[in-house]
Amino acid sequence: MPQQPLAQVPADVKWSWQDVAACLGRDVAMFFHPTNERGRTRRRREVTAKSICFSCPVRVDCADYAIRAREPYGVWGGLTETEREAIYASIPIAHYPRLEGEGARVASYAIERALAPEAFTA
Ligand code: SF4
Repeated sequence: MPQQPLAQVPADVKWSWQDVAACLGRDVAMFFHPTNERGRTRRRREVTAKSICFSCPVRVDCADYAIRAREPYGVWGGLTETEREAIYASIPIAHYPRLEGEGARVASYAIERALAPEAFTA
């Protein structure tokens, strides 16, 4: 049976930002795709998740964690798996600095694009 990819949780990770997350208490199924979800169904679910991330006060912390951990699944900080993969392709993750420098600039720009009005058309 093939192994599922796992997140590589950084040793210095802190989770306190989750205490004020807009998704706290929400159904996590909105943020993670079920097996074989494709096309419009997937897009609609991602748009719904992004709409929650849009008003979240900790979306940069959330995206920062997901990028550094290379979270393989889900919408984090308004970024889908595909949008995070574009970040991995644009900056060596080993050189991704936390919330500052080039890494933060790349992540902030990606979040801005991921949560732009056109991102909400399903
Ligand atoms: S950015 Fe989105 S996924 Fe992350 S904590 Fe906020 S609502 Fe939850």
